Amino acid sequence: MRAEGELGFRGAFFARLMGLLWLTMNAATGGERVITGAGNEASVVPARPVVVEPPRAGGVSGCPVEVNLPEAALVDVMGGQSRRTIRVLDHGFVALVDAMPRLVPSGQTADYAIVQAARVSYGQGTKKVSEDQGLIRYLLRHRHTTPLEMVEFKFHISMPIFIARQWIRHRTANVNEYSGRYSVMPDRFYRPSVEQVRRQSASNRQGGSERLVAGGAGGGGGGGGGQVGQGQVTAEAFVAFLAESEALYAKYRDLVDKGVSREMARIGLPVSLYTEWYWKIDLHNLLHFLSLRMDAHAQEEIQGYARAMHDLVEPIVPVTMAAWKDYTLGGVKLSRLEVDALRAEVKALRARGGGGEGRGAEAAALAGENKREGEEWQAKRRELGLGE
Ligand SMILES: Cc1cc2nc3c(=O)[nH]c(=O)nc-3n(C[C@H](O)[C@H](O)[C@H](O)COP(=O)(O)OP(=O)(O)OC[C@H]3O[C@@H](n4cnc5c(N)ncnc54)[C@H](O)[C@@H]3O)c2cc1C
Repeated sequence: MRAEGELGFRGAFFARLMGLLWLTMNAATGGERVITGAGNEASVVPARPVVVEPPRAGGVSGCPVEVNLPEAALVDVMGGQSRRTIRVLDHGFVALVDAMPRLVPSGQTADYAIVQAARVSYGQGTKKVSEDQGLIRYLLRHRHTTPLEMVEFKFHISMPIFIARQWIRHRTANVNEYSGRYSVMPDRFYRPSVEQVRRQSASNRQGGSERLVAGGAGGGGGGGGGQVGQGQVTAEAFVAFLAESEALYAKYRDLVDKGVSREMARIGLPVSLYTEWYWKIDLHNLLHFLSLRMDAHAQEEIQGYARAMHDLVEPIVPVTMAAWKDYTLGGVKLSRLEVDALRAEVKALRARGGGGEGRGAEAAALAGENKREGEEWQAKRRELGLGE
């Protein structure tokens, strides 16, 4: 039997909880909002009150449920918005549609969930913001990454199929894609402009960052004096080729209308066709994705998507993103061979009394015969300010 007073307290508690939920769900779009009950009730709620509910009828555990109220007012890390979108390419987008934690104590960011989880292993310690930052930076420096998995992001993404093929290789996300068996594929194709068409790189077989139409310099041909260069002609031919492949869409629709199954009709469409999916990933694996796909070696189109994702999550986990940039994105990773070469170079410079500027290259050769590895080392030396 429950006492009347207890019922009254529970009733007030649920009214307050429903108020919190209502405010969360109905917060209008705009800036960050503090979610509290009416009259800022959260500020008068005693710290961590616990309500014990008796076992629920129909429940299978047979146990009471303890319910805690938050210690402080909560804020929505997405500012009450249901969706934040950045447009990518001609028809694509990355939209952030949800985050976990979605509600965090006022004055905090979602970084807080990382600290909360890490303290299970390191103890409560102090809770100063500066020390929370220090803890997150320590975790990233020492690759203690499981606390980062406590933060999750859900995206809605639209991208061409050739990008989706690269993206799907990241196996640690949860994916649900538009079904071309169930629905007709929309008439949306990626078509870069003539100016965006890239030349095949001579040094990187997978890449091409230089434009075919580069206003002359190395581009093979903006052409001077009103002449159309070969690069321009080739880039235009490529874009025309894409337009021809898009024309297949009318045939696809016609064949679907005549009874060919959608699952078969679609196989004649080009990989420039847009698809879309929901993609959910934890922060640890998102950072791995961003490290690989924001990198200059990734295909330019997917780099654009990765940068958009970065911009969407950075305000939500600013401390972690800053640490990741300091320790991973902006870092230079050296192999043992490179460390040996670096040591040799420093030793040679010291032997010359530090006056060996511009003469260190001969001491920096990498042990081993691999030409590509040697070139990569020289690129790292340049990044470190050691060479031309
Ligand atoms: C510039 C670039 C070029 C590429 N070129 C090619 C190419 O030519 N051909 C090609 O096929 N792919 C290519 N890829 C894809 C690449 O090989 C990876 O499949 C992709 O980057 C996903 O990386 P990942 O496996 O680390 O990521 P995820 O699948 O997200 O996995 C994250 C991490 O989880 C662990 N993990 C996940 N699954 C397993 C598992 N089954 N076993 C063990 N550990 C696991 C690993 O530590 C992994 O690093 C390329 C990628 C890049 C960035």
